[in-house]
This record gives sequence, C-alpha cells and structure tokens, in this order.
Amino acid sequence: MKIEANLPQLKSWVTIPDKSDFPIQNLPFGIFKTKYLSSVAGVAIGEHVLDLVYLHENGYLDGLGLPAGIFNQKYLNDFLALGRKKGREVRARVSELLRHDNDELKSNRAACEIALVPQNEVQMQMPVRIPNYTDFYSSEEHATNVGSMFRDPKNALLPNWKHLPVGYHGRASSIVISGTPIHRPKGQIKLPETAFPVFCPTQKLDFELEVAFITCAETKLGSPISVPEAEENIFGLVLFNDWSARDIQTWEYVPLGPFLAKNFGSTISPWIVTLDALEPFRVKGPEQFPHVLPYLSFDGEKNFDIALEVLIQTNNEQPTTISRSNFKYMYWNMAQQLAHHTVNGCNIQVGDMYGSGTISGPSPGSYGSLLELTWNGQRPLHLADGSERKFILDNDTVIMKGHCEKEGVRIGFGECKGRILAAN
Ligand code: MN
Repeated sequence: MKIEANLPQLKSWVTIPDKSDFPIQNLPFGIFKTKYLSSVAGVAIGEHVLDLVYLHENGYLDGLGLPAGIFNQKYLNDFLALGRKKGREVRARVSELLRHDNDELKSNRAACEIALVPQNEVQMQMPVRIPNYTDFYSSEEHATNVGSMFRDPKNALLPNWKHLPVGYHGRASSIVISGTPIHRPKGQIKLPETAFPVFCPTQKLDFELEVAFITCAETKLGSPISVPEAEENIFGLVLFNDWSARDIQTWEYVPLGPFLAKNFGSTISPWIVTLDALEPFRVKGPEQFPHVLPYLSFDGEKNFDIALEVLIQTNNEQPTTISRSNFKYMYWNMAQQLAHHTVNGCNIQVGDMYGSGTISGPSPGSYGSLLELTWNGQRPLHLADGSERKFILDNDTVIMKGHCEKEGVRIGFGECKGRILAAN
C-alpha cells in the first residue's frame, strides 16, 4: 500500500532536529496535558506536540467526518474505534498541514503559537484505557535462553513452541506511562537450599524489552480474526517494559504461568507509532519450520525492522547501554499472534495491549532481559559509573528506545522509562 504521508522526500516547516524520533513521516498519536490544558490528544512533530483539539475546533480537520470532541478526551479509545482507515485520513491531513509548502497553519502565527506545544512543557499521559493485556513469548532466542537456564539446554523449547505463539493473560490495571516510578515488589521466594518459602522484597528484579501492539476494533465473542484480517485491527505500537521478579516467578509459575512476578507493573512509551508509519520498514521474519497449521500461515513480510536499545541509569549519571536488539527477530509475527489469540472465538476490544514477549537477538549483546544478559546473575554487567549489576537495584532507571531508519528517514518511539524505588 502506498501511503503519501510516508514519502521520504517530505519536509516540514516545523524544525526537526537531527536524529529526531518525530519527523513528518512519523506523526504518532498520544495524550498530553500542560499547565493550562487538561488531557487532550496530540501528534508528535520534532520537539513539539501538535494539539489535535485545537486543529479540530478551528476547522483544520473539516471534511474528515470526525465526531465532535473526539480528541478532547482522556484517552484515544474513541478515536481508535473509528478504525485504521480514519486514523490514516487524520495522519494524512496532519502531514499535509505540516508540509513545508503548505501555508494553511504555518501562515497563521497565532494558531501556531497555540497548536504547537514544546514537548518539554507537556506531561504525557496513558494514550489508551487498556481493557485487556496479553503477553506473548514469541522470540525463539529468548525462549531458548530461558529454557536452557531453567530446564534442559538440549530441549530448551517445549514441544508446543514452534506450533503456536505461546502467551498468557496479563494484568491491564498496572500498566503505567513512561516516567512512573515503581516500587520493588515483595513476594514469596523459595531458595533451593531451604525447605519453605520466605516473604521478602524480590532480589532478582528484571526488565523485559518488548514491543506491544494496540487494537482498534471491537469483535463479537465467537468471531475469530484471520491472519489476513489481523493487521487492519492493529492501530500501532508502543515500547513495552514487562518488569519481572525472577525469584518470585521461579517459585510461582508452575503450572499456570506468571502471576505476581509480573503484575506489579509494566511501563509503556507514550506515543502510539501507527502501523501505517511503519509500513516502509517491513522485513521478512525468521523461517518457520516445522510448517505452521493453515490458520497461522501468512503471505508477505510481516516483521518490522525496529532497532531497540536498553539503557540503565544510576543517580542521574550518564546511562549505560546494556542491550541492542531488534523487533525483526520475532519468530511469531503480530498477525499470527492476533489470529491465534482469537481462533477460539475470544473477542478483542479497542485499546487492548498485546506484548510481543521479550525480544532477544542471536548474540549475547542483544538479549532483552538481565536474566539472559547476566545469565541469571552469573556474569554481572559493568555500568559506566563503575558499579556491577546482576539484577535491578533500587533507584536504577531502565530506559528503552526504538527507531527505524531507511532512505534517510528515521522514525522513533521516544522513551519508555521507569525508576525502581525501594520496597514499600
Ligand atoms: Mn513479558
């Protein structure tokens, strides 16, 4: 599909700094507030946020058939519910208004003053109200590393792994926006050398580098979504840190999977980068063998080349990059995940969040969790401030970044950032 708003030659009259995550080819949607504005919808452009409520109320979005007040809301759910096609039309119109050769908005200085808010004056909010959250386990390298560590290196993948995208239902209520601090969770931990568990703060706090997709449709219970239909139900992506307490997880996860080791908090980046903006960055995923069942088969390129990075920052020091991975490594793609999720008739809702699962690449520097990077604490990492890390310590800040780059266009996700505070 050709999307005009993605053309590499487009230029904006808004200044876009070098290496910005938000050139005119991106235009991600989010919810922001300022000292003067309560939560409203906006689009990121360079170092600014473009106020969609102002544009809508002042006629700049006329002709798009948008309901009154659609952007003057705490969440984007109602806008997403209009579907990907409407999202595409709004993004196309915003792109038009921001083009260097378009005077409509540019020539109205008063309008620009109000509509373009510097990003350092806004507070980003949760972009959607999340009815449901599912987390997958779709990186072969991650599943192999974890299986080798806890089970058997010779049979690291369980027999089902290459036949279906393994997942579990997570907790939507504890997903927070980037910048929200999280207290170290407490829980039951059983050490190998003791007969009984103890209750204490986790000693093995970890992050999981993930990308999550957000759905923009409401389906009926009993109506599956097929692989070819799947992407039309996905509005866009955010970065996702699925914080995990490994010692709590080891004790609790058999037989029903993760529970309190994961549901104390997950952090997302604030801007929903549309699947439309990511269109030029499609790539082929890993070869799937054995062949998947027909309901999971797909045509074309369903993976996306998104470079990912994890950094740890201690006491406002210079952050240290501890991992560089890529979303393209995913064995199971999003279309397969959504098709599998709904094949039994499970319905989806607008604003649902679907985590990819930890994204690890083939080399140790590309692993997406500390569990793998330090091999369960056996090989500590060295940070720029001279300290060592096996797992996350109190006051550590974990920062995740992601961007795509091709033909001189670089589109990014902004930051997914969270600081760990001492246990309550
Ligand atoms: Mn996860």
